[in-house]
Amino acid sequence: MKNNHNVITFFKELYKVITQNISNYKVYTYFYSNNNVITYFKNNHNVITKIILYYIVITFSFPAWSLSFNSDLTEGSLIFGQLDPGETVFIEESDLNIGKNSNNLFQIHKDKNNRFIIGIPQDAKEITLTIKNGSTSKTKTFPVKHRSWDEDYVTGLPSAKVNPNPANQKRITDESLQMRRARQNSNYASFPEKWTCPVPEHTRISSRFGSRRILNNVKKQGHSGTDLAAPVGTPVLAPADGKVALIHPDMFLTGKTILIDHGFGVFSSYSHLNSINVKLNQTVKSGDLLGTVGQTGRATGPHLHWTITWYGVRVNPEDLI
Ligand SMILES: [Zn+2]
Repeated sequence: MKNNHNVITFFKELYKVITQNISNYKVYTYFYSNNNVITYFKNNHNVITKIILYYIVITFSFPAWSLSFNSDLTEGSLIFGQLDPGETVFIEESDLNIGKNSNNLFQIHKDKNNRFIIGIPQDAKEITLTIKNGSTSKTKTFPVKHRSWDEDYVTGLPSAKVNPNPANQKRITDESLQMRRARQNSNYASFPEKWTCPVPEHTRISSRFGSRRILNNVKKQGHSGTDLAAPVGTPVLAPADGKVALIHPDMFLTGKTILIDHGFGVFSSYSHLNSINVKLNQTVKSGDLLGTVGQTGRATGPHLHWTITWYGVRVNPEDLI
């Protein structure tokens, strides 16, 4: 944020220097570290020279931004980033969804090859990251690319599941808290970069991630995952290596549910299952049998509701396969 403030102030002051020919001391106080340039600057009254000098000042005042990403920062996407050795990257806690809304900085873990992962929320307009290297620190805000999301009309659900009574609403809240807690701590053993489809035998994608759901004509949040339709009993396979972080035999909305920790904050969940074939804390390899497709919880037909989150931030599973 500080650098953005500096840039805004700089352009305001530059505008004044050009249009009102006033003193530039306010500008150079923001760039006090560039003493030689500024002294020369102060004594030079040619506007063109001033513009060139401002350009030089700005160039030298902002160290190069070394961070690179594997793709554009787009709404609802999981992005892989690359740092230089010695660098660490931070995000504001309020950009995560693990129950902390402060602007404290959260250190994003990187692997031994200086790679890291970040999830972009579906409704994000921008993401601010801070990179630290020794005593230097750089902060930059990246604009997030918009994408359009489907609208999904779902009718015929039992009314008690769409508009739950207070007791069931409490159950939903408790169960979502269990999921959120299970997602707070991730392992950092393997980097989850290779993904496959958890239901290779699915017949169709019956609902896409992010689609605005209108359940029995009531508008709900964007769909949190990808729905893979398949007959009851179709195998559900681990799409990447991981560890079973939570198992629930009967959640109100999601029925038989599995949560897998893939490391570096990335979790996947499997809902409406007919059977569960893994145990809590079990290590799974990509392709291992997790369970089978079912219709438990709130579902109008047999399908796997598959989610991917990064520290609770929901991203589009389809992007990964
Ligand atoms: Zn779903």
